Amino acid sequence: MKLDTRAMRHLASEDWRVLTAVEMGSKNHEIVPTPLIEKLSRLRGGANGVHRSISALAKVGLIARVKEAKYDGYRLTYGGLDYLALHTYSSRKEVYSVGDRIGVGKESDIMLVADHNNVQRVLKIHRLGRISFRSVKSNRDYLKNRQAGSWMYLSRLAAMKEYAFMTALLEEGLPVPTPIAQSRHTIVMSLIEAFPLRQISSVPDPASLYGELISLLLRLAKHGLIHGDYNEFNILIKENTSVDKNGEESITLEPIVIDFPQMVSMEHQNAEMYFDRDVNCIKRFFSRRFGFTSDAPGPFFKDAKKTVGKDGAKRLDATVEASGFTKKMLKDLEAAIKEKAGNKEERASSHSGVESEVDDETEDEDSDHSEEDMDNLGEGASHTEEGVGADGSSKPGE
Ligand code: ADP
Ligand code: MG
Repeated sequence: MKLDTRAMRHLASEDWRVLTAVEMGSKNHEIVPTPLIEKLSRLRGGANGVHRSISALAKVGLIARVKEAKYDGYRLTYGGLDYLALHTYSSRKEVYSVGDRIGVGKESDIMLVADHNNVQRVLKIHRLGRISFRSVKSNRDYLKNRQAGSWMYLSRLAAMKEYAFMTALLEEGLPVPTPIAQSRHTIVMSLIEAFPLRQISSVPDPASLYGELISLLLRLAKHGLIHGDYNEFNILIKENTSVDKNGEESITLEPIVIDFPQMVSMEHQNAEMYFDRDVNCIKRFFSRRFGFTSDAPGPFFKDAKKTVGKDGAKRLDATVEASGFTKKMLKDLEAAIKEKAGNKEERASSHSGVESEVDDETEDEDSDHSEEDMDNLGEGASHTEEGVGADGSSKPGE
C-alpha cells in the first residue's frame, strides 16, 4: 500500500478528532458503531459535525464503512492509521515532510521523510497481517477476520519491538540506525546512506567482510540475541573513504544491521535453528556472490551459547519485555512473523532459480542495479515536498 499524504493538509481539526475517535473505538470494536464515534469525538458541533467529518474521512479512504447484520459502523483503514502516526510525528516536530518511498516489502513500506531542519530520516511503516493472496483465495472468512483489526495490533507490536531493540542495540554500540521516534505501527530512524549487501556485486576483501558479519552475529549472541533474518537485504554496507598521509585513498566497508521485529532470544526453544539459519544465510550468500568459503567451520550455536552475558555483555533478550511487552504479545507477533516467512518461502520456491528468499516484491533479481537505486535515494533527498499538515489541533487520547 502506498502512503499518500495529499489529503492530509485538507483535514480540519474536527476530522482529526473523529479519526482519533475511530481509532479509540477500534480497541474494543472491530467495527466502531457510529454513535460510539459521536460519543468519543465529543465535537462541539454535535452529531452533524461528526457526520460531516465521517463523510470527509471515508471519502479519502481513512475510514471505511462496514455494513453488518447487527449495526453499521466504520473501521480504521491502514491509510487512517498512517495518517494518525504522521499527525503525531508532525505535532511532536519529529517529521515535517514525506518524500519518496525507498523500499517496499511485503510487510512494510520504507519512506524517506525530513524533519524541520530538512534532515533526512527514514519512516518504516509496518504492515504485518497484510492479507496474503493465498488466504484470499482459500478462505474468505479468514480474510474477513484478519482484516478486522488484528493487522493493526500486530503491526503495532512489530514497530514497538523493533524500536525497543534498535534502542538497546545502539546503546550497546552495535551498528544499527539511530531510532528517533515511534508511533503506532511506525518508527522513524536515521537514514543510512548505503546499499544493501544484496546490491553489491564485488568487494575487495570478501574474507574480512565475512569475518565482520560473523563477528556481529556473535556479538548479538553475547547479548543473548539472534537476529532471525540476517540476510543480504538486512545488512547495509556503508563505504567509508579515507585518505592516508601519502594521499592514498582507501575504502573501508562498514556493515549496518537493520530489521529487528523477528529477533529472538538465545534461550528460545528453536534458538539453534534460528542461529544456524542466520549463519548459513551469510555463508551461502558469500559463496554464491563472491565465491568465498570460509576455512573455519561454524560458528556453532553451542559455542555461542557459552558466551551469552560474558565479558560484561548486557543481556538484551529481555528488552522487549522490559518495554511493556507481555508473553502473549511476543507469541502473537512470533506467530504472525512465522506466517510471513512461510508465505515468503512459498513465493521464493515458486520462482525457480531465485538465489535466496526474496523479501522485497520490487527488488530486482539482477544484482547490478545499485546505481539506479542510489539515484532514487538521492532524488528523494531533494524531493520531499508533501507537507504533513501544520494544523495544531487537539488530539484526544493520543
Ligand atoms: P522489511 O521488514 O520489509 O524487510 P527493512 O527494515 O528490512 O523492512 O527495510 C527494507 C529496505 O528498506 C531495506 O532493505 C533497505 O534497503 C531500506 N531501509 C530500511 N531502513 C533503512 C534505513 N534506516 N536507511 C536506509 N535504508 C533503509
Ligand atoms: Mg528486511
